[in-house]
Amino acid sequence: MEQLPILPLRGVVVYPLIGVTIDVGRPLSLRALLAAKEHETDLIVVTQKETGKESPEQEDLYAIGTRVHIAKMSELSNETVRVRLVGKERVKINAIDETKEGWFADVEPLELVEGEEVERTALVRLLKEQFGKLVGSIKGLSPDERRRFEMYERLESLTDYIASKLDIDVDLRQAMLEEPDAVKRGLELLEIMTHEVEIIELEQELRERTKKTIEQAQKEYYLREQMKTIQQELGDQSQDSEPNRLREKLEAIDLPETTRKNVMREAERLNVVPATSPEYAVIRNYLDWVASLPWGIETEDKLDVKHAADVLDDDHYGLESVKDRILEYLAVRQLTNSLRGPILCLAGPPGVGKTSLARSIASALERHFVRVSLGGVRDEAEIRGHRRTYIGAMPGRIIRGLKQAESKNPVFLLDEIDKMASDFRGDPASAMLEVLDPEQNVSFSDHYIEEPFDLSNVLFIATANDVSQIPAPLLDRMELIQIGGYTELEKVEIAKRHLIPKQYKEHGLKKSQLTIKEDALYEVVRRYTREAGVRNLERVIGSLCRKAAKQIAIGEKKRVTVSLKSLGDYLGKPKYRYGKGETEDSIGAVTGLAYTAFGGDTLTIEVALAPGKGKLQLTGKLGDVMQESAQTAYSYVRANAERFGIDPSFYERQDVHIHVPEGAVPKDGPSAGITIATALISALTGKKVRRDIGMTGEITLRGRVLPIGGLKEKALAAHRAGLTTIIIPKDNERDIDDIQDTVREKLTFVPVTMLDEVLEVAFGGN
Ligand code: ADP
Repeated sequence: MEQLPILPLRGVVVYPLIGVTIDVGRPLSLRALLAAKEHETDLIVVTQKETGKESPEQEDLYAIGTRVHIAKMSELSNETVRVRLVGKERVKINAIDETKEGWFADVEPLELVEGEEVERTALVRLLKEQFGKLVGSIKGLSPDERRRFEMYERLESLTDYIASKLDIDVDLRQAMLEEPDAVKRGLELLEIMTHEVEIIELEQELRERTKKTIEQAQKEYYLREQMKTIQQELGDQSQDSEPNRLREKLEAIDLPETTRKNVMREAERLNVVPATSPEYAVIRNYLDWVASLPWGIETEDKLDVKHAADVLDDDHYGLESVKDRILEYLAVRQLTNSLRGPILCLAGPPGVGKTSLARSIASALERHFVRVSLGGVRDEAEIRGHRRTYIGAMPGRIIRGLKQAESKNPVFLLDEIDKMASDFRGDPASAMLEVLDPEQNVSFSDHYIEEPFDLSNVLFIATANDVSQIPAPLLDRMELIQIGGYTELEKVEIAKRHLIPKQYKEHGLKKSQLTIKEDALYEVVRRYTREAGVRNLERVIGSLCRKAAKQIAIGEKKRVTVSLKSLGDYLGKPKYRYGKGETEDSIGAVTGLAYTAFGGDTLTIEVALAPGKGKLQLTGKLGDVMQESAQTAYSYVRANAERFGIDPSFYERQDVHIHVPEGAVPKDGPSAGITIATALISALTGKKVRRDIGMTGEITLRGRVLPIGGLKEKALAAHRAGLTTIIIPKDNERDIDDIQDTVREKLTFVPVTMLDEVLEVAFGGN
């Protein structure tokens, strides 16, 4: 038995063939080194059971240690020495002798056990495989050390190498030293490493996963930053300031409570929805619309009928009865102190001042004015808007009008309410009913806005050309004011007082620069325009102004005077014949009077005969109604042929052709009966009809003359056309009072009850 110096180790276990470098500083250990050096012997290292013990006793040491040889020794300082030890074999410590030179141990080699060859080979392979997976995660290994395990072929040395490198407890390391069977050691290590590998793999997976999330988060952050930069570059509002701006705007508005809640909820959504999504745009548009409506904004009314009368008079010439009706309407409102009630409807031909009257009403009341045209509206959604889910949805015309009005109580002109049409997309008229109904329009709901809007303080005024085209339920709600048309005199007055000054102003002309003589104005009214209103007259005046302005501008003239003589130079040839009519009386042609959407008009009905078999042919612009009138007149004439001196069998030899030349189609129902009958009889008898008379009246199969509508307009037209006498149904006699004095005085009215009386006047001595 050999006695060798013994060196206690703290926290380290040395295995055979494995080199370890340790720093030695404890006196006991230093003495052991010294002894070994002196005697040139190996050294026994043995691990302390408790690492913390500074001066161990014999019992504090394990019983199995390692015989090592000192490969290198170097002094670190006075008290510590660094040594490199290389393990030789496992030894069993039988006894320890404590001497002055240090501790010496009696040792013998540990008896080893050799396992099955196959098992060993398999273990070597498995151990290498597992250690290979682990080695990367072991700290403090040089690259060289990381690969060294691959060189070990013997199970003994491989297990020792692995045990020395693995991060395991000292207890376990010691156990690995004490185990004489390399196979057992290998199995134990394999188990430890497999567990470790699992942990590492799990760690790896977790790390990967967190890495991915971090990468994703970083990516998003990066992209967001980029987006912000781009938006700033483009000068856009930054993403979060827009919702704020809208919210502030909405908060400042006097919204009804429930509306406020709903709208604010939408505003909040803007914060959640990405600014680039279509939904964001939809919400933003919606909120913009809501914010742009005049929710709580109301102007103060000036309910003063006298003031209103002044305004109406200043803006409009004539129209006395119309103005009176409007003032009555306003007076009632003033007394009841509210503008609720039936809707005013101004009906009449174009250019008679319906729009401008409505404008004057607004200015008299000191209300804002908006005009919305309903002409051609055929879809309910145009009135009431599209639901927000539609692409490009918008509020309807009513809400749009209110936005434009900038107050919730404007005068709201519904232009051309008779031109609304309905089709499969829904009936706009019923939507209009809701708009106009004071019971319902307190909370008018537009499909787009969705929140109720109070229309009850809006003063709606409608206009129409043709009252018969207004749906009955709508008409029911309205107070009709008919505006007929103007006489020559009135037109000339309107031109002088209103149209000319207005056009001068528009064209930047001074009064001194352009003079339009009165006779020229009359000529324009008579032969360049033919209308109930003054729209074309205004246009022609505008054109005179432009031509004068041009002449002055190019220095051709300093001032321009338009007289009857020079009118042709400016406007070209007259478009219409006036007054002259057919200078001669003629056979088979009679002037009728019609009431059309454009006011009154004259129309000549012609009858021609041709050899044939009594066929009745109708051509020209005849409506259904006039066709019936023609049939009736024809039947009457045939039945009473003898009385008029006509051969009763004329139809066996002759065809009859009735033609109504190009002209407006009457809108007011039958009124051409007597005209057609007179033309027929004239043609068949060869009697000439006076050309200075016009006639209107329907005929029955027994020759009675039935009343007609629109006498006032017809009289105006007759006057315009230069007729002197008009034949009217007796029943219409009372309407003569409605006709302007200037017209009435110039015309002779002949009221009749039977066709015979018509013929007497028409053929007048012929
Ligand atoms: P409407 O709406 O009936 O078609 P507008 O109101 O547009 O007609 O009238 C056409 C033009 O004629 C406007 O410039 C209007 O001011 C003018 N006007 C019509 N009637 C009168 C009138 N009685 N007095 C003054 N100007 C008139």
